[in-house]
Amino acid sequence: MVRQVHSDEVKSAVLRKLGERGVTLEDVAAIVYEMQSPYNPRLQMQTCMESVHAVLRKRELQHALLVGIELDVLAEKGMLSEPLQSIVQADEGLFGCDETLALGSVLGYGSIGVTTFGHLDKHKIGIIQKLDNKTSGMVHTFLDDLVASIAAAASSRLAHRQRDVDEAEADRMEESAS
Ligand code: MG
Repeated sequence: MVRQVHSDEVKSAVLRKLGERGVTLEDVAAIVYEMQSPYNPRLQMQTCMESVHAVLRKRELQHALLVGIELDVLAEKGMLSEPLQSIVQADEGLFGCDETLALGSVLGYGSIGVTTFGHLDKHKIGIIQKLDNKTSGMVHTFLDDLVASIAAAASSRLAHRQRDVDEAEADRMEESAS
Protein backbone atom coordinates (compact mmCIF):
# COMPACT_ATOMS: atom_id res chain seq x y z
CA MET A 1 0.00 0.00 0.00
CA VAL A 2 1.23 3.49 -0.78
CA ARG A 3 2.04 5.42 2.39
CA GLN A 4 0.40 8.82 2.77
CA VAL A 5 2.95 11.18 4.31
CA HIS A 6 1.61 13.56 6.95
CA SER A 7 2.51 17.21 6.45
CA ASP A 8 4.09 17.38 9.95
CA GLU A 9 6.54 14.70 8.89
CA VAL A 10 7.40 16.67 5.74
CA LYS A 11 7.92 19.92 7.64
CA SER A 12 10.15 18.35 10.27
CA ALA A 13 12.21 16.65 7.53
CA VAL A 14 12.65 20.03 5.81
CA LEU A 15 13.82 21.71 9.04
CA ARG A 16 16.18 18.83 9.83
CA LYS A 17 17.70 18.82 6.35
CA LEU A 18 18.17 22.60 6.30
CA GLY A 19 20.04 22.28 9.61
CA GLU A 20 22.15 19.38 8.33
CA ARG A 21 23.10 21.49 5.30
CA GLY A 22 24.18 24.41 7.50
CA VAL A 23 21.19 26.74 7.10
CA THR A 24 19.40 28.13 10.16
CA LEU A 25 16.04 29.87 10.01
CA GLU A 26 17.74 32.91 11.58
CA ASP A 27 20.03 33.04 8.52
CA VAL A 28 16.98 33.17 6.26
CA ALA A 29 15.14 35.67 8.48
CA ALA A 30 18.21 37.96 8.34
CA ILE A 31 17.85 38.10 4.54
CA VAL A 32 14.13 38.85 4.88
CA TYR A 33 14.97 41.67 7.29
CA GLU A 34 17.49 43.13 4.85
CA MET A 35 14.96 42.95 2.00
CA GLN A 36 11.98 44.39 3.87
CA SER A 37 13.34 46.82 6.49
CA PRO A 38 13.86 49.65 3.94
CA TYR A 39 10.08 49.57 3.34
CA ASN A 40 9.12 49.14 6.99
CA PRO A 41 11.37 50.88 9.52
CA ARG A 42 9.46 49.30 12.42
CA LEU A 43 10.15 45.76 11.18
CA GLN A 44 11.44 43.34 13.84
CA MET A 45 13.57 40.21 13.32
CA GLN A 46 10.90 38.26 15.22
CA THR A 47 8.35 39.17 12.54
CA CYS A 48 10.77 37.98 9.84
CA MET A 49 11.24 34.67 11.70
CA GLU A 50 7.47 34.20 11.91
CA SER A 51 7.17 34.81 8.18
CA VAL A 52 9.90 32.25 7.42
CA HIS A 53 8.08 29.68 9.58
CA ALA A 54 4.80 30.48 7.85
CA VAL A 55 6.10 29.98 4.29
CA LEU A 56 7.85 26.75 5.34
CA ARG A 57 4.41 25.36 6.12
CA LYS A 58 3.58 25.51 2.38
CA ARG A 59 3.88 22.27 0.46
CA GLU A 60 5.24 23.94 -2.70
CA LEU A 61 8.28 25.11 -0.78
CA GLN A 62 8.64 21.97 1.33
CA HIS A 63 8.64 19.69 -1.70
CA ALA A 64 11.04 21.86 -3.68
CA LEU A 65 13.42 21.86 -0.68
CA LEU A 66 13.28 18.08 -0.29
CA VAL A 67 13.96 17.49 -4.00
CA GLY A 68 16.75 20.04 -4.27
CA ILE A 69 18.57 19.08 -1.07
CA GLU A 70 18.36 15.40 -2.02
CA LEU A 71 20.01 16.08 -5.37
CA ASP A 72 22.75 18.19 -3.72
CA VAL A 73 23.49 15.41 -1.21
CA LEU A 74 23.52 12.68 -3.88
CA ALA A 75 25.86 14.78 -6.04
CA GLU A 76 28.13 15.34 -3.04
CA LYS A 77 28.33 11.54 -2.55
CA GLY A 78 28.93 10.99 -6.28
CA MET A 79 25.73 8.97 -6.54
CA LEU A 80 24.03 10.61 -9.53
CA SER A 81 24.46 9.11 -12.98
CA GLU A 82 26.50 10.88 -15.63
CA PRO A 83 26.30 13.44 -17.08
CA LEU A 84 23.98 14.84 -14.37
CA GLN A 85 26.55 14.02 -11.66
CA SER A 86 29.18 16.29 -13.22
CA ILE A 87 26.70 19.05 -14.08
CA VAL A 88 25.23 19.29 -10.55
CA GLN A 89 28.59 18.82 -8.84
CA ALA A 90 30.15 21.63 -10.90
CA ASP A 91 27.12 23.90 -10.36
CA GLU A 92 27.15 24.41 -14.11
CA GLY A 93 25.95 27.96 -14.84
CA LEU A 94 23.67 26.98 -17.70
CA PHE A 95 22.01 24.09 -15.82
CA GLY A 96 19.03 26.23 -14.79
CA CYS A 97 16.95 23.50 -13.12
CA ASP A 98 18.02 24.74 -9.69
CA GLU A 99 16.64 28.23 -10.37
CA THR A 100 13.53 26.85 -12.08
CA LEU A 101 12.65 24.58 -9.14
CA ALA A 102 13.21 27.40 -6.64
CA LEU A 103 11.39 30.04 -8.69
CA GLY A 104 8.42 27.70 -9.20
CA SER A 105 7.92 27.49 -5.46
CA VAL A 106 7.58 31.30 -5.04
CA LEU A 107 5.13 31.90 -7.89
CA GLY A 108 2.20 31.74 -5.47
CA TYR A 109 3.57 34.81 -3.66
CA GLY A 110 3.04 37.23 -6.52
CA SER A 111 5.37 39.60 -8.30
CA ILE A 112 7.20 40.76 -5.13
CA GLY A 113 8.20 37.14 -4.54
CA VAL A 114 9.48 36.81 -8.10
CA THR A 115 11.40 40.11 -8.17
CA THR A 116 12.91 39.49 -4.71
CA PHE A 117 14.00 36.02 -5.84
CA GLY A 118 15.68 37.56 -8.92
CA HIS A 119 17.44 40.13 -6.72
CA LEU A 120 18.73 37.45 -4.31
CA ASP A 121 19.80 35.19 -7.17
CA LYS A 122 21.88 38.02 -8.58
CA HIS A 123 23.28 39.61 -5.40
CA LYS A 124 23.61 36.49 -3.21
CA ILE A 125 22.97 38.08 0.16
CA GLY A 126 23.96 36.60 3.56
CA ILE A 127 23.95 32.81 3.82
CA ILE A 128 23.26 32.53 0.06
CA GLN A 129 26.73 33.95 -0.59
CA LYS A 130 28.25 31.37 1.77
CA LEU A 131 26.41 28.52 0.06
CA ASP A 132 27.46 29.76 -3.36
CA ASN A 133 31.11 29.71 -2.31
CA LYS A 134 32.38 26.46 -3.80
CA THR A 135 35.44 26.05 -1.57
CA SER A 136 33.69 24.03 1.17
CA GLY A 137 33.72 20.75 -0.78
CA MET A 138 29.95 20.55 -0.28
CA VAL A 139 27.47 20.75 -3.15
CA HIS A 140 24.84 23.49 -2.76
CA THR A 141 23.78 23.80 -6.39
CA PHE A 142 20.08 23.67 -5.45
CA LEU A 143 20.19 24.93 -1.87
CA ASP A 144 21.43 28.47 -2.60
CA ASP A 145 18.43 29.05 -4.88
CA LEU A 146 16.04 27.35 -2.48
CA VAL A 147 17.16 29.56 0.41
CA ALA A 148 16.55 32.55 -1.89
CA SER A 149 13.05 31.21 -2.57
CA ILE A 150 12.21 30.85 1.16
CA ALA A 151 13.49 34.39 1.80
CA ALA A 152 11.65 35.79 -1.24
CA ALA A 153 8.37 34.12 -0.26
CA ALA A 154 8.68 35.32 3.36
CA SER A 155 9.53 38.88 2.15
CA SER A 156 6.57 38.99 -0.20
CA ARG A 157 4.23 37.70 2.49
CA LEU A 158 5.45 40.47 4.84
CA ALA A 159 5.06 43.17 2.19
CA HIS A 160 1.45 42.16 1.53
CA ARG A 161 0.62 41.92 5.22
CA GLN A 162 2.20 45.30 5.91
CA ARG A 163 -0.08 46.85 3.29
CA ASP A 164 -3.09 45.27 5.05
CA VAL A 165 -1.93 46.70 8.39
CA ASP A 166 -1.37 50.18 6.88
CA GLU A 167 -4.79 50.16 5.23
CA ALA A 168 -6.55 49.03 8.41
CA GLU A 169 -4.78 51.84 10.30
CA ALA A 170 -5.81 54.42 7.66
CA ASP A 171 -9.42 53.17 7.81
CA ARG A 172 -9.46 53.49 11.60
CA MET A 173 -8.09 57.04 11.44
CA GLU A 174 -10.65 57.98 8.81
CA GLU A 175 -13.44 56.55 10.95
CA SER A 176 -12.36 58.35 14.11
CA ALA A 177 -12.08 61.63 12.15
CA SER A 178 -15.63 61.40 10.80
MG1 MG B 1 22.21 27.25 -7.82
